[in-house]
Amino acid sequence: MKSNDCEVVVVGAGPSGLWLACELRLAGLDVCVIERRTEPMSQSRSLTIHGRTLEMFAMRGLHERFLQVGRPMPSWHFAGLPTPLEFSAIESRHPYMLFIAQTQTERLLQERAMELGVEFHRGCTATQIAQSEEGVSVHVHDASGTRRIDAAYLVGADGARSQVRQQAGIAFPGMAATQSVMMADAQVDLPDGKATLSIENAAGGLTILPLGGGKQRIIRLDPERRHVASHEPLSEGELRDSLVRIAGHDFGLRNAVWLTRFSDETRLADAYRNGRIFLLGDAAHIHAPMGGQGLNVGLQDAMNLGWKLGAVARRKAPAELLDTYEAERRPEGQRLLQSTLAQVALTSRYDEAGLALRKTVAEFLRHPSLNRQLAGELSCFDLSYLQPLPGFESAQGAFGWRMPDCDLALDHGAGSSSIYANLADGSWLHLYLDVSSQEREPLPDWLGSAEVRRVRASVGTSCPALSGVKDVLVRPDGYVAAARFIPGEGQR
Ligand SMILES: Cc1cc2nc3c(=O)[nH]c(=O)nc-3n(C[C@H](O)[C@H](O)[C@H](O)COP(=O)(O)OP(=O)(O)OC[C@H]3O[C@@H](n4cnc5c(N)ncnc54)[C@H](O)[C@@H]3O)c2cc1C
Repeated sequence: MKSNDCEVVVVGAGPSGLWLACELRLAGLDVCVIERRTEPMSQSRSLTIHGRTLEMFAMRGLHERFLQVGRPMPSWHFAGLPTPLEFSAIESRHPYMLFIAQTQTERLLQERAMELGVEFHRGCTATQIAQSEEGVSVHVHDASGTRRIDAAYLVGADGARSQVRQQAGIAFPGMAATQSVMMADAQVDLPDGKATLSIENAAGGLTILPLGGGKQRIIRLDPERRHVASHEPLSEGELRDSLVRIAGHDFGLRNAVWLTRFSDETRLADAYRNGRIFLLGDAAHIHAPMGGQGLNVGLQDAMNLGWKLGAVARRKAPAELLDTYEAERRPEGQRLLQSTLAQVALTSRYDEAGLALRKTVAEFLRHPSLNRQLAGELSCFDLSYLQPLPGFESAQGAFGWRMPDCDLALDHGAGSSSIYANLADGSWLHLYLDVSSQEREPLPDWLGSAEVRRVRASVGTSCPALSGVKDVLVRPDGYVAAARFIPGEGQR
């Protein structure tokens, strides 16, 4: 019998597939990535890495690479409304959004994947996929012909039109496109040397953001052009006319390097898994790119699936652990769709009623608590997982929350460390904070074969998330699997 070519095949080397491949390699698996493009994309759809995603990179010691390239921004927008969402009130070492081109994000992820030894098959298209109880196979087509790759698991990170999803028989219900938005990366001159510009009036909405290198991103919601199909080419002339309609002049539009339209087509995969086949990223959810969320949610899908698939493939966790991937991530896909559809509604009408709605919501967002809530949701800082992992049913509600990073003063004068530094190799962290306590939390048997780092330490007052906590077990993806509290101290 032919042995497997690799343990996991990942179809698609976009951001989701790249990060999943990194996480699987970190767990020690042989990973093959199949990518139909020979070269990385030259255009950047995404411009954002949100704070929670940056925390995820910090857990693997990679955040500095992103910070060197991107530009931290203390606030971001919801539906282009004039009241910014402020991240400063969020308990995190990264209470901001990092403005960074998708090309750079993919370059850094690819670099990490190469360092970890991921095997890439570029210029290869996955065509036919099959699975049995024992494994999966995928036919891969390239310039030299077609060959078969066998593996134990297959992951579809192959984007919105995912072949993997279709061949796995997973439906993709949702909303067909109702409108399109014009977008260009080009040069314009803004009044008074401004870097950004935002206009909204009866002629629609316009946002201009600086991209660096003298280029700007122009996003134009034009009621007169919103019914044009998103696959129709956009010309500089059409965009120029549209700029004149909203601003009275064309800002000297020139040197466009990318002219496109995006739509509000919105869909969520019925299932994130069929047997040995998994979906993540745009293969599992598509939506209007509003609020800069899609790439971030895809990366977090990958972070969630990586350690679980790694542990189950290496028989270090029960197979049921894999069911928690869909249970945890599909509700987040639903939240993402709700958030982006709400933004579609807020950008669909620029008549008097539509502008009044926008003004009303913008006024609500001036309330700090509402602003904080929406900022926490959009950036994924506030995501919690609501079901216990298999074997953790006795955790009684003390689980699921996001673990922020905090400094640790190690016991017995062993120096200092931080929570995230202890997650860098993808292991679990069991942190004992109450020096008086010698008893150990009874952990599920299966965790006995996983890598669990045990650390005795104290945290100062600068870590409110751990106030009153006696010991806490942190998952490899930075969420709490179980926590116990000092009697009489606060419990969540
Ligand atoms: C205009 C626009 C702006 C956006 N802005 C933002 C933003 O600011 N912030 C944000 O978070 N998100 C943003 N997004 C969304 C973001 O770009 C996507 O969510 C992200 O690229 C999804 O990553 P992915 O890896 O899941 O899929 P993709 O990036 O689509 O990657 C899929 C990969 O699979 C490959 N592939 C496909 N089929 C096959 C096959 N059969 N065989 C082999 N390879 C295959 C493709 O070539 C591709 O490389 C934006 C999207 C658009 C359209």
